[in-house]
Amino acid sequence: MQYFIDVILPLAVKKTFTYEVSEAEFKYIINGMRIAVPFGKSKVYTSLVVNKHTVSPLLYKPKEIDCILDNEAIVNSNQLKHWNWISDYYMCSLGEVFRSALPSGYMLESETIISEKKNLKLDTSEFKDDEYLIYEALKSQSSITVKDIIKILGKKTVFPVINGLLAKGILVLQEEIKEVYKPKLVRYVKMQDEFFNKERFQDLLSIISKAKKQHQMVLSFFQLYASENKVVTVKQLLEFTNSTSSVLKALIDKGVFEEYYLNEDRVIFEKDNDVSFILSSVQEKALNEIKSIKDKFDVTLLHGVTASGKTEVYIKLIEDFLLIGKQVLFLLPEIALTTQLVQRLTSYFGNQISVYHSKYTNNERIEVWNNVLDQSEKAKIVIGVRNALFLPFSNLGLIIIDEEHEQTFKQQDPAPRYHARDAAIVLAKQHNAKVLLGSATPSLESYYNVAIGKYGLVELKERYGNVLLPEIKLVDIKDKYFRKKMQGHFSDELLESMNEALKLGEQIILFQNRRGFSPFVECITCGHVPHCPNCDVSLTYYKFKNQLRCHYCSYSMANPTHCHQCQSTELSTKGFGTEQIEMELKALFPDKSIGRMDQDTTRGKYGYEKIIDAFKNQEYDVLIGTQMLAKGLHFDNVTLVGILNADNLLNQPHFRAYERAFQMMTQVAGRAGRKQKKGTVIIQTYNPYHNTIQQVVTNDYKAMYREQIYDRQNFKYPPFFRLIKLTLKHRDFEKLKEGSLWLYNVLVQQLQIPVLGPEEPVISRIRNEYIRNIIIKIPCDNHLGKTKKTIEKVIVSFDSIAQYRAIKVVINVDNY
Ligand code: ADP
Ligand code: ZN
Ligand code: ZN
Repeated sequence: MQYFIDVILPLAVKKTFTYEVSEAEFKYIINGMRIAVPFGKSKVYTSLVVNKHTVSPLLYKPKEIDCILDNEAIVNSNQLKHWNWISDYYMCSLGEVFRSALPSGYMLESETIISEKKNLKLDTSEFKDDEYLIYEALKSQSSITVKDIIKILGKKTVFPVINGLLAKGILVLQEEIKEVYKPKLVRYVKMQDEFFNKERFQDLLSIISKAKKQHQMVLSFFQLYASENKVVTVKQLLEFTNSTSSVLKALIDKGVFEEYYLNEDRVIFEKDNDVSFILSSVQEKALNEIKSIKDKFDVTLLHGVTASGKTEVYIKLIEDFLLIGKQVLFLLPEIALTTQLVQRLTSYFGNQISVYHSKYTNNERIEVWNNVLDQSEKAKIVIGVRNALFLPFSNLGLIIIDEEHEQTFKQQDPAPRYHARDAAIVLAKQHNAKVLLGSATPSLESYYNVAIGKYGLVELKERYGNVLLPEIKLVDIKDKYFRKKMQGHFSDELLESMNEALKLGEQIILFQNRRGFSPFVECITCGHVPHCPNCDVSLTYYKFKNQLRCHYCSYSMANPTHCHQCQSTELSTKGFGTEQIEMELKALFPDKSIGRMDQDTTRGKYGYEKIIDAFKNQEYDVLIGTQMLAKGLHFDNVTLVGILNADNLLNQPHFRAYERAFQMMTQVAGRAGRKQKKGTVIIQTYNPYHNTIQQVVTNDYKAMYREQIYDRQNFKYPPFFRLIKLTLKHRDFEKLKEGSLWLYNVLVQQLQIPVLGPEEPVISRIRNEYIRNIIIKIPCDNHLGKTKKTIEKVIVSFDSIAQYRAIKVVINVDNY
């Protein structure tokens, strides 16, 4: 008898592949194990077993496997079911889902590049022969591929050895070698243990009784030690005693005190012995509502204004699910938000929490994966960004999706182009789990689902602790320019408020949705605007580097001194970005410190966190930033928020432009205000009477919803129609034009629903590839599965036409 297994390969191919195994292997293998298999001429991949059988395939002779990589299943049947749904719904291959689902440390293949972990002290005498050979090879070159290792070891089954070395942290995957963030360390001081003995302490006091300052410092230490929960920072001690570090040094030299350093995060955790809190009565009421309607609805939307304490409500709800032994998944839109949340949850739930996202090392991710698989105590609660959905849950009770309106929940590239909120709702259904969506500015989709009775709704209308919502003022900049009341891009009103806040030692956030100095340079004589040679966009001007840069590819050039078209030297910049605002501010407030947070300043691994930390520690008085600022962060000392130009938020060529503008402005505004003081938000705009701006000012989400939902219905957009966007790309303009027209015509013929295009997008060429879009609008009562099958068939026939084969077609379902 012959034995076979069907596996998924991590590739964009629709089907599974069959391999032959021995009888012993067959008995050992179970579905959900990883198997290294050869594929194509010389490649080796990590695959996943999904089926075992004894039927030889008809069309090809199966190859044999290389080796079995697991001794138990690492993927369960729930996951496979969910992955299948993702692959069907988002029209991609199961292999693509598999590839993005597993931590890359679990996905070795022949092309994987491997390096040696630097600065390790190793005892190589413990190494096995194979391990030593790999180690040696890495002495002469900084990195090698798995393929090289296959050659070096002269055998195919190398994955187990490499996996072993990766797990021990001796080897690392090339992709991991990035910048490492050293969290801020805080300097602490403690008394040597012996002096906690009363007699020794008395001795000490009499010895230093002459050195008055030292004597006083020792006594102060004890006072602080009691009041500060046994942890005393050097800073506290010096301030409290009004003394200098030389006094402290003398005591350290005498062996009375000792210094130590702690990471700030850990401190917060260790200090918080009492982390219990009581819900306010409104929060309590919301929690009870959530609990009582969860029997009626699988999904509940918590619509709570900014700083209403949604997190506290989540915490109490999580507690309930832990009590009945369930796993909880907490999804956030941004990695940078996890730090704050992890701190808050860790101090409450201790180490029942695991964090999962791509900035963690492979070994850390694998550890979380295994903890979830084993339903370990350490992973009762998993906090992560969208890919945490793929973890091997088997007992999920609750999924919380915070800031559910954020578009970053939708994966754009590569496939699977899934929406984590929607995929989470499907996952929850499979587990019979509940979903709680939270937002101060819900997506139209979710609010619509409330309106039609699909989701439950719970509201939190006030901020916690009587903190007032900020007052929002509009400034008409057309009028201000006319009256010459503008300095650069700042109105007199904004400047006045800024001066006031700064005088009181309060902090300010300024929002401008464009980075760089100006979005383009223009010749005053002939109107020529320098464009990127690879993309169809104007180049952004960066003053500090005196450069023009493309935001879509890495192209940059020195800022031209004259027009390339007419040689004129009169060039001017148009529009403004964060860099320009920063420079204006530095001129306006020379003695204030100013921070900037945008894609250009947050590039390093922890670039974002560093700026947030610095702002929190009040190292900056003013922080300027792009939409990164709009996320749910809390800064206690911010009382003023300025939006420099609301109009470029509104004037986006997208059906969601007004919805997003409302969300963005409301969220940024939500950063203003603190305990005893009402915050102020100043919005500068040319259109103070624009409906969306008025809705922001009156904080009228429902008015925004009604207006937008009416338009969506009228113009056939979600949630009334589902959009599938086909993006076609090719370097040859004519060929692309012809091909996209062909595809469009056939789709129109086959579908009998609205098909738009093929349109040239606003940016119609990126990295030398021309782009065309075709948008298919599927009415909600239409049979979705059938329509998708038809679309797939049409694309298959498109691909089979020789002259179009080279045109890439990207399918994006529920394109955002
Ligand atoms: P949201 O997520 O709704 O914007 P948060 O949950 O972050 O709001 O709460 C805002 C602030 O109020 C936080 O600093 C939080 O610690 C505090 N807070 C909210 N509810 C409580 C409570 N019941 N007890 C103590 N502090 C609370
Ligand atoms: Zn010119
Ligand atoms: Zn470019």
